[in-house]
Amino acid sequence: MVVVMRERATEDEIQNVVSCLVDMGYDVHRSTGAARTVIGAVGGGRKGDPGLLEVLDGVHEVVRITEPYKLASRTFKPEDTVITVDDLRIGGDEVVVMAGPCSAESEQQVMATAAAVKRGGAKILRGGAFKPRSSPYSFQGLGEQGLTLLRAAADAHDLKLVSEVMDVGQIDLVGRYAHILQVGARNMQNFTLLRELGKARQPVLLKRGISATIEEWLLSAEYILAGGNTEVMLCERGIRTFESYTRNTLDISAIPVVKTLSHLPVFVDPSHGTGRRDKVAAMARAAVAAGADGLIIEVHCDPDKALSDGAQSLFPGQFDRLMAELRIIAPAIGRSICVEPVVRRGWGA
Ligand code: PEP
Ligand code: MN
Repeated sequence: MVVVMRERATEDEIQNVVSCLVDMGYDVHRSTGAARTVIGAVGGGRKGDPGLLEVLDGVHEVVRITEPYKLASRTFKPEDTVITVDDLRIGGDEVVVMAGPCSAESEQQVMATAAAVKRGGAKILRGGAFKPRSSPYSFQGLGEQGLTLLRAAADAHDLKLVSEVMDVGQIDLVGRYAHILQVGARNMQNFTLLRELGKARQPVLLKRGISATIEEWLLSAEYILAGGNTEVMLCERGIRTFESYTRNTLDISAIPVVKTLSHLPVFVDPSHGTGRRDKVAAMARAAVAAGADGLIIEVHCDPDKALSDGAQSLFPGQFDRLMAELRIIAPAIGRSICVEPVVRRGWGA
């Protein structure tokens, strides 16, 4: 349930509603927008009559939410959530690009790739140190050594770092190096992990599960929000369908759907979404045109030798070219994107 206060409701009136909700057994989350305060009541009151709330002073409307998620919904928070990481704003006018290798492999690979994505206009370095691989015999990541390499490369190129956390025991460790904690598709419904991330200090990038509905995805975001971490970004990364030409089916329609249902920033991963580097640029362009707040793209300085996901990783030159195209598309829909490449370079692969 959401209680929408009148525009000029006083602090006393707001506090009175909050204490009534607490007395009724709800967990209360307050959101103060520019125009009015909205109070979310989560958990189901076991005492009292919610109908009484409608007649309390200062109350404009009591909305019983039909969606099972509340804190993630636009009804609870009508304005877009903007997440700040130092001077970087995520979810505002600027389309933010995260780019880098699938996995950290070596100092040379991480440094060279970080330099390349910085030149192209990325703001955040991506890279996994703990890798969720389908086969236990595939490269599993360098662990803490990988995090050290990634953070050093991010710092050297004035980039922020996003990296995956696969289980509860890794949250503190990954959080010491990464500015943003990634939850992978396979962990979207690892509820123990989501609950713990609700207590984390870093923002969370929550990828959509391989076969998750949008409602299930938003309910997973709700776990993190209900734990007290309000900084959640969603990431569409393709779902499994009957189509086998691409690795996954990138659900571009999820962008406008989620932007309507939720206030959380929406990212798109066209790399895992297609699995093929020749399809990544088209899907990235489509995602920005459809209103994505950001992209996460795999780029590798030598993708044909990558230890994971080389086939879907862009060459630096392809990333440059894509960023130049996005600089044309973003303003057409009222968005900006890192204005100029940091260093001009040729278009070659
Ligand atoms: C990744 O980002 O490298 C990754 C493993 O992503 P996903 O969880 O979407 O498969
Ligand atoms: Mn990958």
